[in-house]
Amino acid sequence: MTRRTRPNRERRALAARARDERRARLRNLIDRAGRVTLTTQEADALRGLAEAEFAESDALRATVGGQQSAANRHGAQLDAAHAAIREAEQAAAEWKKTAATYSGLYSSAEQDVTNYHERQAAEEHRRRVVAAGTISAACCVCGRGPVTYRNYREQPFCAPCADGQPAPTTTTPEPQP
Ligand SMILES: [Zn+2]
Repeated sequence: MTRRTRPNRERRALAARARDERRARLRNLIDRAGRVTLTTQEADALRGLAEAEFAESDALRATVGGQQSAANRHGAQLDAAHAAIREAEQAAAEWKKTAATYSGLYSSAEQDVTNYHERQAAEEHRRRVVAAGTISAACCVCGRGPVTYRNYREQPFCAPCADGQPAPTTTTPEPQP
């Protein structure tokens, strides 16, 4: 920082001193022009000094103008950036709403899946109970299987007993579960 600042400051000081000297000479020549007729050399010097002032003034005006338009450009860029930020914020708010909606839908779908799994588990349990009942249950009359019929009290019967013709018991009936 100081490496750049110091030469700039020195350059500005030198330029200011040169300008002061030039203006002092300029005022001196203008004073003389009011009193005496200037020599050709003095008139040339006056013109040169005046042109130098004009050039410096133009350069300064150009610099100020450049800074002004740069400032305007930066202002426009800043406005555009603010507009973009507002737009992004609005978009973010919209996305937040959309996300909330989807989150709700997701929770609802998740609940549906849970309900489905619960129903499936219940169905599976019922099926197992029924299957187990069918396989393991023995006829309530003869104690044999397979059970092919259940009466209105859910009592199991084998086919012959259901037909009222129990098979002759040649072996000891198995104990009922
Ligand atoms: Zn039977």
